[in-house]
Amino acid sequence: MGEFVPLVKLSIIILACLVVASVYATEYFDLSYSLNNDTIFYPGQKYDFELFKDKKGYTESGYWYAAYSFCMAEHGGTHVDAPFHFSEKGWTLDEIPESHMIDVPATIIDVQNDVFSSPTPDTFTLQVHHILKHETQHGKIPSRSVVLVHTGWSRFWPNKQRYLGFANSTNSTPTLNFPGCSIEAAKWLANERNIVGFGIDTPSVDIGNNGGNLPVHIFLGERQIYNIENVANLHLVINDVIKKGTVCNGVINILRLFVLPIKITGATGGPTRILAYC
Ligand SMILES: [Zn+2]
Repeated sequence: MGEFVPLVKLSIIILACLVVASVYATEYFDLSYSLNNDTIFYPGQKYDFELFKDKKGYTESGYWYAAYSFCMAEHGGTHVDAPFHFSEKGWTLDEIPESHMIDVPATIIDVQNDVFSSPTPDTFTLQVHHILKHETQHGKIPSRSVVLVHTGWSRFWPNKQRYLGFANSTNSTPTLNFPGCSIEAAKWLANERNIVGFGIDTPSVDIGNNGGNLPVHIFLGERQIYNIENVANLHLVINDVIKKGTVCNGVINILRLFVLPIKITGATGGPTRILAYC
């Protein structure tokens, strides 16, 4: 009995060490682009990203001191669209509940092959049948999750002309040309899977050449579902999770996500850090 108690204690300590080790061994994928002079903004906004190096150097007292300012529009780089962006009664950026952004289940729907096997990749839109095919292969999308779409468009980042699609314009006035989501797929994800957020690796959830219509933005905003645009590095997760099976045991539907936008009171959106793990 005297030896049994220390053995139990030892087992508990070993177990605790294993739990701690597994937490620290977690591999995080950063799904956000760094903000710098290459950052791409949706056209029509007032400010690109700019960093002002206000103070940088040794002071007269002999210590190092650096402090910068930055300026940017809300909708540039990897950023969240708050529901208020297209819905007057929608949440502003600071009002989105933490439970919709912190440690939420996430799924990546990979349509890259469909996009680039099309003769016009820039007109591709995610359809319900793409989602159903994904579920057949990877399981049902969890309720209250964030769905991320991998179109492969990130290969053009940070080439502004290719990424925004000016290179595919047929007239002298550049128009936007990049893939997006259909309104049918957005409605299906909201109604059938009760998603809390929707992200894509293009400049916008609505396709670029949309004739001024933004039905997906409007619908998702009215449903208090936030968007994430210019999502980065989805191919890294797909390569690891699906192709190598080294994390998540090859199952893409058990990803977890931290969506951490800057907290500006009343903002319509803003730059965000996104971290995925499983
Ligand atoms: Zn936006």
